[in-house]
Amino acid sequence: DKQLHYQVFNRFMLDQYQRKRLLAGHLQELLAEPHNTELFLCYQPIINISQPQQLGVEVLIRWEHPKLNFINPPDIIEIAEENGLGEKLGEWLFRRMRHDIARFPADTLCHIHVSINLSSSIFNQNLVNRVSDWLQDGPLPASQLILELTENIALEDVQLSRKIFTQLKERQIRIALDDFGTGWSSFSYLKDLSFDKLKIDKSFIKHLDRDKRLPLFVQAITDLSHQLGISVVAEGVETESELSKILEIGANEIQGYYYSRPLRAEAFHDFAEHYLAG
Ligand code: C2E
Ligand code: CA
Ligand code: CA
Ligand code: CA
Repeated sequence: DKQLHYQVFNRFMLDQYQRKRLLAGHLQELLAEPHNTELFLCYQPIINISQPQQLGVEVLIRWEHPKLNFINPPDIIEIAEENGLGEKLGEWLFRRMRHDIARFPADTLCHIHVSINLSSSIFNQNLVNRVSDWLQDGPLPASQLILELTENIALEDVQLSRKIFTQLKERQIRIALDDFGTGWSSFSYLKDLSFDKLKIDKSFIKHLDRDKRLPLFVQAITDLSHQLGISVVAEGVETESELSKILEIGANEIQGYYYSRPLRAEAFHDFAEHYLAG
Protein backbone atom coordinates (compact mmCIF):
# COMPACT_ATOMS: atom_id res chain seq x y z
CA ASP A 1 0.00 0.00 0.00
CA LYS A 2 0.91 3.67 -0.29
CA GLN A 3 1.98 4.19 3.28
CA LEU A 4 4.42 1.31 3.11
CA HIS A 5 5.91 2.46 -0.16
CA TYR A 6 6.45 5.86 1.31
CA GLN A 7 8.30 4.45 4.27
CA VAL A 8 10.41 2.16 2.14
CA PHE A 9 11.32 5.08 -0.05
CA ASN A 10 12.37 7.19 2.91
CA ARG A 11 14.34 4.36 4.41
CA PHE A 12 16.16 3.93 1.12
CA MET A 13 16.96 7.62 0.85
CA LEU A 14 18.27 7.67 4.38
CA ASP A 15 20.45 4.65 3.71
CA GLN A 16 21.81 6.24 0.57
CA TYR A 17 22.54 9.41 2.44
CA GLN A 18 24.26 7.65 5.29
CA ARG A 19 26.24 5.45 2.94
CA LYS A 20 27.46 8.49 1.05
CA ARG A 21 28.39 10.32 4.22
CA LEU A 22 30.37 7.36 5.47
CA LEU A 23 32.07 6.98 2.12
CA ALA A 24 32.95 10.67 1.99
CA GLY A 25 34.71 10.43 5.34
CA HIS A 26 36.53 7.34 4.22
CA LEU A 27 37.51 8.90 0.91
CA GLN A 28 38.93 11.93 2.66
CA GLU A 29 41.19 9.64 4.72
CA LEU A 30 42.30 7.69 1.67
CA LEU A 31 43.20 10.86 -0.22
CA ALA A 32 45.47 11.87 2.63
CA GLU A 33 47.40 8.60 2.38
CA PRO A 34 49.25 8.68 -0.94
CA HIS A 35 50.20 4.99 -0.78
CA ASN A 36 46.87 3.42 0.12
CA THR A 37 45.99 0.48 -2.10
CA GLU A 38 42.20 0.72 -1.80
CA LEU A 39 42.15 3.63 -4.21
CA PHE A 40 44.13 3.13 -7.41
CA LEU A 41 44.24 3.99 -11.08
CA CYS A 42 43.59 1.91 -14.17
CA TYR A 43 44.99 2.69 -17.58
CA GLN A 44 43.09 1.97 -20.79
CA PRO A 45 45.10 2.01 -24.03
CA ILE A 46 43.95 4.24 -26.90
CA ILE A 47 45.22 3.15 -30.29
CA ASN A 48 46.23 5.84 -32.77
CA ILE A 49 45.46 4.46 -36.21
CA SER A 50 47.79 6.58 -38.32
CA GLN A 51 50.54 6.94 -35.71
CA PRO A 52 51.35 3.47 -34.36
CA GLN A 53 54.58 4.82 -32.84
CA GLN A 54 52.35 6.64 -30.33
CA LEU A 55 50.12 5.20 -27.64
CA GLY A 56 47.32 7.01 -25.87
CA VAL A 57 45.95 6.04 -22.50
CA GLU A 58 42.99 7.12 -20.39
CA VAL A 59 43.43 7.21 -16.62
CA LEU A 60 40.40 5.81 -14.75
CA ILE A 61 39.91 5.80 -11.02
CA ARG A 62 39.09 2.64 -9.02
CA TRP A 63 38.04 2.22 -5.43
CA GLU A 64 38.04 -1.30 -4.04
CA HIS A 65 36.34 -0.88 -0.72
CA PRO A 66 37.07 -3.73 1.75
CA LYS A 67 33.35 -4.26 2.51
CA LEU A 68 31.47 -2.74 -0.41
CA ASN A 69 33.72 -4.10 -3.15
CA PHE A 70 34.14 -1.85 -6.18
CA ILE A 71 32.48 1.51 -6.02
CA ASN A 72 31.16 2.81 -9.32
CA PRO A 73 33.62 5.44 -10.62
CA PRO A 74 30.94 8.09 -11.30
CA ASP A 75 29.82 7.62 -7.65
CA ILE A 76 33.37 8.22 -6.45
CA ILE A 77 33.46 11.47 -8.39
CA GLU A 78 30.04 12.50 -7.13
CA ILE A 79 30.99 11.81 -3.51
CA ALA A 80 34.18 13.81 -3.93
CA GLU A 81 32.44 16.72 -5.62
CA GLU A 82 29.57 16.87 -3.13
CA ASN A 83 31.96 16.97 -0.22
CA GLY A 84 34.47 19.51 -1.40
CA LEU A 85 37.10 16.87 -2.15
CA GLY A 86 37.49 17.61 -5.88
CA GLU A 87 40.82 19.41 -5.53
CA LYS A 88 42.21 16.76 -3.21
CA LEU A 89 41.15 14.02 -5.59
CA GLY A 90 42.81 15.81 -8.52
CA GLU A 91 46.02 16.20 -6.59
CA TRP A 92 45.96 12.58 -5.47
CA LEU A 93 45.29 11.42 -9.02
CA PHE A 94 48.20 13.32 -10.56
CA ARG A 95 50.52 12.18 -7.80
CA ARG A 96 49.53 8.52 -8.22
CA MET A 97 49.75 8.78 -12.00
CA ARG A 98 53.27 10.19 -11.73
CA HIS A 99 54.22 7.39 -9.37
CA ASP A 100 52.73 4.75 -11.70
CA ILE A 101 54.49 5.99 -14.83
CA ALA A 102 57.79 6.89 -13.15
CA ARG A 103 58.98 3.33 -13.77
CA PHE A 104 58.59 3.67 -17.55
CA PRO A 105 61.92 4.04 -19.34
CA ALA A 106 62.24 7.49 -20.93
CA ASP A 107 62.26 6.06 -24.45
CA THR A 108 58.86 4.43 -23.80
CA LEU A 109 57.32 7.31 -21.92
CA CYS A 110 58.09 9.78 -24.70
CA HIS A 111 55.58 7.93 -26.94
CA ILE A 112 52.73 7.87 -24.42
CA HIS A 113 49.94 10.46 -24.32
CA VAL A 114 47.92 10.52 -21.12
CA SER A 115 44.25 11.54 -20.90
CA ILE A 116 42.81 12.59 -17.57
CA ASN A 117 39.14 13.23 -16.80
CA LEU A 118 38.43 16.57 -15.22
CA SER A 119 35.72 16.89 -12.63
CA SER A 120 33.74 20.10 -12.54
CA SER A 121 35.16 21.63 -9.36
CA ILE A 122 38.70 21.65 -10.82
CA PHE A 123 37.62 23.42 -13.99
CA ASN A 124 38.10 27.02 -12.87
CA GLN A 125 40.50 29.97 -13.14
CA ASN A 126 43.15 28.09 -11.20
CA LEU A 127 43.15 25.00 -13.40
CA VAL A 128 46.19 25.84 -15.49
CA ASN A 129 48.42 26.76 -12.57
CA ARG A 130 47.25 23.81 -10.59
CA VAL A 131 47.82 21.28 -13.36
CA SER A 132 51.22 22.82 -14.11
CA ASP A 133 52.14 22.41 -10.44
CA TRP A 134 50.95 18.83 -10.45
CA LEU A 135 53.10 18.05 -13.50
CA GLN A 136 56.13 19.93 -12.22
CA ASP A 137 59.32 17.89 -11.86
CA GLY A 138 57.35 14.82 -12.91
CA PRO A 139 58.08 12.47 -15.78
CA LEU A 140 55.23 13.64 -18.04
CA PRO A 141 55.67 16.74 -20.23
CA ALA A 142 52.61 18.99 -20.58
CA SER A 143 52.62 18.32 -24.33
CA GLN A 144 51.76 14.67 -23.58
CA LEU A 145 48.77 15.51 -21.41
CA ILE A 146 45.16 15.65 -22.59
CA LEU A 147 42.37 16.85 -20.34
CA GLU A 148 38.94 15.32 -20.97
CA LEU A 149 35.93 17.50 -20.34
CA THR A 150 32.23 16.78 -20.69
CA GLU A 151 29.86 19.25 -22.29
CA ASN A 152 28.11 20.22 -19.09
CA ILE A 153 31.42 21.28 -17.57
CA ALA A 154 32.62 23.29 -20.55
CA LEU A 155 29.28 24.95 -21.35
CA GLU A 156 28.55 26.25 -17.88
CA ASP A 157 30.48 29.43 -18.65
CA VAL A 158 31.69 29.54 -22.24
CA GLN A 159 33.52 32.83 -21.72
CA LEU A 160 35.54 31.34 -18.86
CA SER A 161 36.08 28.12 -20.78
CA ARG A 162 37.57 30.06 -23.68
CA LYS A 163 40.01 31.75 -21.33
CA ILE A 164 41.03 28.47 -19.74
CA PHE A 165 41.42 26.79 -23.14
CA THR A 166 43.76 29.58 -24.31
CA GLN A 167 45.91 29.19 -21.21
CA LEU A 168 46.04 25.42 -21.64
CA LYS A 169 47.10 25.78 -25.26
CA GLU A 170 49.90 28.15 -24.23
CA ARG A 171 51.23 25.33 -22.07
CA GLN A 172 50.71 22.80 -24.89
CA ILE A 173 48.09 20.91 -22.90
CA ARG A 174 45.38 19.48 -25.15
CA ILE A 175 41.64 19.28 -24.50
CA ALA A 176 39.19 16.54 -25.46
CA LEU A 177 35.42 16.81 -25.50
CA ASP A 178 34.23 13.65 -23.74
CA ASP A 179 31.01 11.66 -24.22
CA PHE A 180 30.14 13.54 -27.39
CA GLY A 181 26.54 13.03 -28.45
CA THR A 182 25.05 12.48 -25.01
CA GLY A 183 24.44 16.14 -24.16
CA TRP A 184 22.12 18.75 -25.55
CA SER A 185 24.19 21.38 -27.24
CA SER A 186 27.03 19.46 -28.80
CA PHE A 187 27.12 21.40 -32.03
CA SER A 188 27.14 24.86 -30.48
CA TYR A 189 30.08 23.70 -28.44
CA LEU A 190 32.12 22.86 -31.45
CA LYS A 191 31.36 26.30 -32.79
CA ASP A 192 32.27 28.21 -29.63
CA LEU A 193 35.21 26.32 -28.19
CA SER A 194 38.27 24.82 -29.83
CA PHE A 195 38.87 21.27 -28.78
CA ASP A 196 41.81 19.17 -29.93
CA LYS A 197 39.90 15.90 -29.76
CA LEU A 198 36.33 14.75 -29.75
CA LYS A 199 35.41 11.47 -28.12
CA ILE A 200 32.34 9.87 -29.65
CA ASP A 201 30.31 8.29 -26.88
CA LYS A 202 30.06 4.53 -26.53
CA SER A 203 26.33 4.63 -27.19
CA PHE A 204 27.04 5.61 -30.81
CA ILE A 205 29.54 2.80 -31.31
CA LYS A 206 27.36 0.04 -29.91
CA HIS A 207 25.19 -1.29 -32.77
CA LEU A 208 27.14 0.84 -35.25
CA ASP A 209 27.58 -2.31 -37.26
CA ARG A 210 23.88 -3.23 -37.17
CA ASP A 211 22.02 0.06 -37.33
CA LYS A 212 21.28 1.83 -40.63
CA ARG A 213 21.06 5.43 -39.42
CA LEU A 214 23.70 5.47 -36.67
CA PRO A 215 26.66 5.40 -39.09
CA LEU A 216 25.26 8.48 -40.84
CA PHE A 217 25.44 10.47 -37.61
CA VAL A 218 28.89 9.22 -36.75
CA GLN A 219 30.11 9.96 -40.27
CA ALA A 220 28.73 13.51 -40.13
CA ILE A 221 30.29 14.20 -36.72
CA THR A 222 33.61 12.80 -37.91
CA ASP A 223 33.64 14.82 -41.13
CA LEU A 224 32.69 18.03 -39.34
CA SER A 225 35.40 17.45 -36.70
CA HIS A 226 38.01 16.86 -39.36
CA GLN A 227 37.02 20.04 -41.19
CA LEU A 228 37.46 21.88 -37.89
CA GLY A 229 40.87 20.28 -37.34
CA ILE A 230 39.63 18.13 -34.48
CA SER A 231 40.84 14.57 -34.07
CA VAL A 232 38.16 11.90 -33.49
CA VAL A 233 38.38 9.21 -30.83
CA ALA A 234 35.88 6.34 -30.80
CA GLU A 235 35.07 4.97 -27.35
CA GLY A 236 33.66 1.57 -26.50
CA VAL A 237 34.80 -0.36 -29.56
CA GLU A 238 34.28 -3.97 -28.55
CA THR A 239 34.08 -6.08 -31.69
CA GLU A 240 35.89 -6.52 -34.95
CA SER A 241 32.87 -5.43 -36.98
CA GLU A 242 32.46 -2.25 -34.91
CA LEU A 243 36.14 -1.61 -35.49
CA SER A 244 35.96 -2.03 -39.24
CA LYS A 245 32.89 0.19 -39.42
CA ILE A 246 34.48 3.00 -37.41
CA LEU A 247 37.71 2.75 -39.40
CA GLU A 248 35.70 3.04 -42.59
CA ILE A 249 34.09 6.19 -41.16
CA GLY A 250 37.56 7.56 -40.45
CA ALA A 251 38.04 7.86 -36.67
CA ASN A 252 41.63 8.68 -35.75
CA GLU A 253 41.89 6.84 -32.45
CA ILE A 254 40.22 3.76 -31.00
CA GLN A 255 39.51 2.94 -27.36
CA GLY A 256 37.60 -0.08 -26.16
CA TYR A 257 37.57 -3.66 -24.99
CA TYR A 258 38.45 -4.81 -28.51
CA TYR A 259 42.03 -3.69 -27.86
CA SER A 260 42.08 -3.72 -24.09
CA ARG A 261 40.10 -3.21 -20.92
CA PRO A 262 41.42 -0.67 -18.42
CA LEU A 263 44.55 -2.23 -16.93
CA ARG A 264 46.42 -1.98 -13.65
CA ALA A 265 49.60 0.12 -13.96
CA GLU A 266 51.83 -2.94 -14.18
CA ALA A 267 49.78 -4.59 -16.92
CA PHE A 268 49.55 -1.36 -18.87
CA HIS A 269 53.30 -1.04 -18.66
CA ASP A 270 53.63 -4.48 -20.29
CA PHE A 271 51.01 -3.62 -22.90
CA ALA A 272 52.84 -0.40 -23.81
CA GLU A 273 56.27 -2.03 -24.08
CA HIS A 274 54.85 -4.77 -26.25
CA TYR A 275 52.76 -2.45 -28.43
CA LEU A 276 55.52 0.11 -28.99
CA ALA A 277 58.03 -2.61 -29.80
CA GLY A 278 55.97 -3.28 -32.89
P1 C2E B 1 34.41 7.95 -19.36
O1 C2E B 1 35.28 9.13 -19.13
O2 C2E B 1 33.54 7.97 -20.54
O3 C2E B 1 35.39 6.69 -19.38
C1 C2E B 1 35.23 5.59 -20.24
C2 C2E B 1 34.45 4.50 -19.57
O4 C2E B 1 34.09 3.53 -20.55
C3 C2E B 1 35.25 3.75 -18.50
O5 C2E B 1 34.33 3.36 -17.50
C4 C2E B 1 35.75 2.53 -19.28
O6 C2E B 1 36.07 1.44 -18.45
C5 C2E B 1 34.55 2.25 -20.15
N1 C2E B 1 34.88 1.51 -21.38
C6 C2E B 1 36.00 1.60 -22.11
N2 C2E B 1 35.94 0.78 -23.19
C7 C2E B 1 34.74 0.16 -23.12
C8 C2E B 1 34.07 -0.81 -23.97
O7 C2E B 1 34.59 -1.26 -24.99
N3 C2E B 1 32.83 -1.19 -23.58
C9 C2E B 1 32.23 -0.72 -22.46
N4 C2E B 1 31.01 -1.16 -22.16
N5 C2E B 1 32.83 0.19 -21.64
C10 C2E B 1 34.06 0.63 -21.98
P2 C2E B 1 34.64 3.56 -15.95
O8 C2E B 1 36.09 3.37 -15.67
O9 C2E B 1 33.65 2.74 -15.19
O10 C2E B 1 34.34 5.09 -15.71
C11 C2E B 1 33.05 5.60 -15.86
C12 C2E B 1 33.06 7.09 -15.81
O11 C2E B 1 33.47 7.57 -14.52
C13 C2E B 1 34.03 7.73 -16.79
O12 C2E B 1 33.46 7.72 -18.07
C14 C2E B 1 34.17 9.10 -16.17
O13 C2E B 1 33.08 9.91 -16.47
C15 C2E B 1 34.16 8.79 -14.69
N6 C2E B 1 35.56 8.65 -14.22
C16 C2E B 1 36.33 7.56 -14.12
N7 C2E B 1 37.54 7.86 -13.61
C17 C2E B 1 37.54 9.20 -13.40
C18 C2E B 1 38.49 10.13 -12.87
O14 C2E B 1 39.64 9.80 -12.53
N8 C2E B 1 38.10 11.44 -12.78
C19 C2E B 1 36.85 11.84 -13.18
N9 C2E B 1 36.56 13.15 -13.07
N10 C2E B 1 35.96 10.99 -13.68
C20 C2E B 1 36.27 9.69 -13.79
CA1 CA C 1 36.75 10.15 -20.37
CA1 CA D 1 33.70 9.09 -22.41
CA1 CA E 1 27.89 -4.07 -30.92
